[in-house]
Amino acid sequence: MIKTDILIVGGGAAGLSAGQYGARAGRDVVIVEALMPGGQCAYIDMIENYPGFDTPVSGFEIGDRMQKQAEAFGAKIVYDEFVSFEKKDDIFFVKLAGQEVEAKSIIWATGAKHRHIDIPGEEEFNGRGVSYCGTCDGSFFKQQTIFVIGGGDTALTDALYLSKLSDDVTIVHRRDRFRAQDDLIQRVKKTKIKTLMNKRPLEIKGEDNKVSSIVLEDVVTGEKSEHSTKAVFIFAGMIPQTQLLPKELVDDHGYVVADQKMQTAIKGFFVAGDVRDTPFRQVVTAASDGAIAAHSASEYIDEIDGNAY
Ligand code: NAP
Repeated sequence: MIKTDILIVGGGAAGLSAGQYGARAGRDVVIVEALMPGGQCAYIDMIENYPGFDTPVSGFEIGDRMQKQAEAFGAKIVYDEFVSFEKKDDIFFVKLAGQEVEAKSIIWATGAKHRHIDIPGEEEFNGRGVSYCGTCDGSFFKQQTIFVIGGGDTALTDALYLSKLSDDVTIVHRRDRFRAQDDLIQRVKKTKIKTLMNKRPLEIKGEDNKVSSIVLEDVVTGEKSEHSTKAVFIFAGMIPQTQLLPKELVDDHGYVVADQKMQTAIKGFFVAGDVRDTPFRQVVTAASDGAIAAHSASEYIDEIDGNAY
């Protein structure tokens, strides 16, 4: 049985940042991580927009430094899987796969996974031309041919962003109309962005370990076509990791809803990072959420312990 002030579920940028801030505030902090600290950040080949790093740095390195920093302040990382929790009085009783935890507060920082489209080449060239984030990776493909997959808000928003970096951006959508909001569709129409409707991606091909082309199929005629490209940005939706949470905490899309202190509908249960209902998901916003959540959790613990100012 572990007893702690703050239990953080998820060891990505949000969880590690929360761990650092919580431990630095003098709290006992345990971070539960199922796989490897760093989360999605660890898979980003190069990050050039994290404040303070004036040369590109790998996501793995940022995650690794965050982990070391959190541990240096006293946060403990436990490799285990969250199963369930219940709150009795002011204590959260948490079941992990391998042990139980009593915590005064929980910070949920499990992230959201990009939905993959499961076509040949997608995993092989992930980080080598296949990307799930325009603002993260777009600048590696300045004035190169870029294909964007998807017809939702994210696909069109990121295509608009990418069109500032390259005049050769094509959106591929599997239906005859976009799912995205009309104002985004109208904005796309005013740019040089090309659209290929009723086309579904079949395969991403590569040369020299990098993306070289994409094969599409017309869903009406069945005709196949191959297009040279350096980059394939896939925006097939996100899967927030909230399957194990009570429904009262999440919105219709499965994201955790919180106020500006990261407080959710259950007092003492906070959220941070990509799993939160938020308009912008970046390493820096995850780290920021984590800092706020840890600060709020610490204030909350003072409140329940009768130490509030
Ligand atoms: P989304 O709305 O679920 O759209 C995903 C798109 O990917 C859909 O067009 C879908 O096609 C397509 N898709 C899914 N699986 C595919 C596959 N296997 N092959 C090819 N295409 C596939 O996801 P999202 O765009 O990430 O948006 C998620 C939420 O965030 C939405 O609620 C959105 O409004 C919100 N959001 C808002 C903003 C904003 O307000 N500016 C920006 C970004 C996101 P179908 O259309 O055929 O299903």
